[in-house]
Amino acid sequence: MTARIIDGKAIAQKVREELKGRIAQLREAGIVPGLDVIIVGENPASQVYVRNKATTSREIGIRSEVHALPAETPEDTLLRLIGELNRNPDVHGILVQLPLPAHIDSSKVLEAVDPAKDVDGFHLRNVGALVTGNKIFVPCTPNGVMRMLAEERLTVEGKDAVVVGRSNIVGKPMAFLLLEKGATVTICTSKTRNLAEHTRRADILVVATGRPRMITADMVKEGAVVIDVGINRLPDGKLVGDVDFESVKAKAGCLTPVPGGVGPMTIAMLLCNTVESAERVASASARGVKS
Ligand code: NDP
Repeated sequence: MTARIIDGKAIAQKVREELKGRIAQLREAGIVPGLDVIIVGENPASQVYVRNKATTSREIGIRSEVHALPAETPEDTLLRLIGELNRNPDVHGILVQLPLPAHIDSSKVLEAVDPAKDVDGFHLRNVGALVTGNKIFVPCTPNGVMRMLAEERLTVEGKDAVVVGRSNIVGKPMAFLLLEKGATVTICTSKTRNLAEHTRRADILVVATGRPRMITADMVKEGAVVIDVGINRLPDGKLVGDVDFESVKAKAGCLTPVPGGVGPMTIAMLLCNTVESAERVASASARGVKS
């Protein structure tokens, strides 16, 4: 079997096109969706991510501002900025780029963001809402994976899904989203004994470990849907996923590439969350509710 390659770039493009229409409607109602991104310090990878988020937002008509703060910024100053953005009615989405410098308490910062503007879906209230099946904002990467599965018309209900990785930003929310859609979900971690025994049972295998090419063909069930979230830069500069693309391609039913798979979906879903936030404000103001 040769896997069908899921084109994340094309699906992300489709999502952005859909959003343009929704943004035009909002603008007609006098609302310009706004996304404010905060970055603290000079982490080069973070700088690239932040630039991409802002540029892609602007391309489709979202107002986007980047607040670049020096690495030594005190926690109080950052919390004050978040407070100002929380109160600013032109801001519909607030994103604090992680990681933050060691002297800043990341949990405190994430909890300071108004949950109604938390387009990353990291605030405890949004996490709780996701876990209880009352989604408000869903973290962008797992949300992007679900959108890919839907676009490819891949059934989740009744399937055995295995998620490798349990981070708060990918693995855990991913598992809850699959569970909500009716999959039987197993979460594997670095502590899992005999990982391959689990992965080989998966109809849907989502891998988010940050371990280059760790999932090889012998760990995959024939015909499985394999979603590779990993982004790893090898010493020669090449970008690879957590899945050994070449060998797994010959065995899986569907497979996402790296780059061009889950990555573009993450930004697309961030834009989606920002537009959704602005739409909530628009419909609240149409009902005469003060936001
Ligand atoms: P974390 O480092 O936070 O988590 C990695 C997880 O993988 C941990 O739960 C860890 O287990 C588990 N793990 C590590 N090694 C193994 C192993 N040998 N077997 C089983 N499980 C293992 O990473 P993230 O979740 O933040 O990111 C994962 C990958 O996804 C990275 O490559 C990152 O760059 C990429 N990423 C891509 C995005 C995109 O847009 N495409 C967005 C976000 C991340 P334990 O908890 O036991 O340590």
